[in-house]
Amino acid sequence: MVNILIVGGGIGGVALALALARHGIASTLVEAAPVLGEIGAGIQLGPNAFHALESLGLTDLLLRDAVTVKAFDLMNADTGGRIRQFDLADPFRARFGYPYAVVHRADLHTALLRNAEATGLVDIRTDHRVTGYTRTGERARLHLAGRPDLEADLIIGADGIRSAIREAMLGDGPPRVSGHSTFRSVIPLEKMPEDLRWDSMTIWVGHKVHVVHYPLKGWKSFNLVATVHEANDRPVAGEPVANDHVLRVFGHLSDTVLRAITAGEDWKRWVLCDRDPVLTWADGNVLLLGDAAHPTLQYFAQGACMAIEDAVCLAGLIESGRNTASIAADYSRERQARTARVQIGSRLIGDNVFHPGGAAAAARDDVFANMTNPAFYDHMSWLYDYRVDQRVAAIGGV
Ligand SMILES: Cc1cc2nc3c(=O)[nH]c(=O)nc-3n(C[C@H](O)[C@H](O)[C@H](O)COP(=O)(O)OP(=O)(O)OC[C@H]3O[C@@H](n4cnc5c(N)ncnc54)[C@H](O)[C@@H]3O)c2cc1C
Repeated sequence: MVNILIVGGGIGGVALALALARHGIASTLVEAAPVLGEIGAGIQLGPNAFHALESLGLTDLLLRDAVTVKAFDLMNADTGGRIRQFDLADPFRARFGYPYAVVHRADLHTALLRNAEATGLVDIRTDHRVTGYTRTGERARLHLAGRPDLEADLIIGADGIRSAIREAMLGDGPPRVSGHSTFRSVIPLEKMPEDLRWDSMTIWVGHKVHVVHYPLKGWKSFNLVATVHEANDRPVAGEPVANDHVLRVFGHLSDTVLRAITAGEDWKRWVLCDRDPVLTWADGNVLLLGDAAHPTLQYFAQGACMAIEDAVCLAGLIESGRNTASIAADYSRERQARTARVQIGSRLIGDNVFHPGGAAAAARDDVFANMTNPAFYDHMSWLYDYRVDQRVAAIGGV
């Protein structure tokens, strides 16, 4: 018998285990995989994520290995020209309190996991595949493949975009397959063409494609991410792809961005999926968190940031000692509009900023070319100004 059961040991689940432990609350985390870990790729963290990570005591550790990029370069992938460069250095930091940083996923996940383990308050059980749950009055029972049930006062499904907990709660079937394919590669710094080793979050935008690159691992490597509308209806995650295939798909882009893509190796493909936002994240004492609650296309680069914010918010409400119904109501109220905005907004910026062609692309270029740094910051403030600790305090959490 345990009190709090977390399903899923991704960034969201491990962040929740750590957030609870920081309040002195023990939890058991069950994970289907034999080993906990993250894929070898970069992840962007906005200032809002650092405000949440501050509550977990991890900002210094993560900023040590992170690259805090100095600029956001919006480039035209068809012409090779720069649409606009936005300053992400001192003025950005002064505005939002933290830099814009890029870290290796494994570094983020390991930092969360090691710190959670070090508290001695997290019981991690790998090789535990959850198949569903049943509510039993005040408690809930978690069903596992080939193992006896586990019972708890509170179950949190942080089991990702194909969540078994969500399926048992909402029965809303598989996620929407966007058909957009994303190819990812991490290359050593030396492989990146020297004139493209920019200290920036660089996004090349073209018709139905965009390409992102940024330095990683204290400037030891570069992260390459290339996305295209492929009308692919298979939900693929991490499938190895030949270099030739990637070059064929992106071969029509301008020479400069093509040289970055040519440097890529060991490419892997994801077919991006998301869901429409929903208003039900709770069934009595069973709750959803992270991608299980609000899976999004990655175009705002905020899915993991949202999962970490969820974790800090939920742990603060649990610590306040109120009953489960009130925790679930406050958690849903606080988190749903914000995460829905990320889900819906990601689709919109995909269509209108990253992937338009023709006149719509010309309009996009015109809007951004004339946007000042302060205007850009104002535009992003709903996302980056959010301080989860202050929000939790405002709604009576800890
Ligand atoms: C191409 C791409 C780029 C991205 N870039 C960014 C970015 O720059 N910044 C950002 O913030 N976000 C980004 N994201 C989004 C981010 O990766 C996700 O939102 C985040 O990892 C979700 O974390 P999670 O813990 O909710 O889910 P997951 O990471 O999916 O973790 C779920 C865990 O649950 C386990 N599990 C699943 N089913 C079961 C089961 N039945 N029983 C037990 N365990 C189970 C899984 O094995 C896994 O460990 C990106 C996503 C993509 C696809």
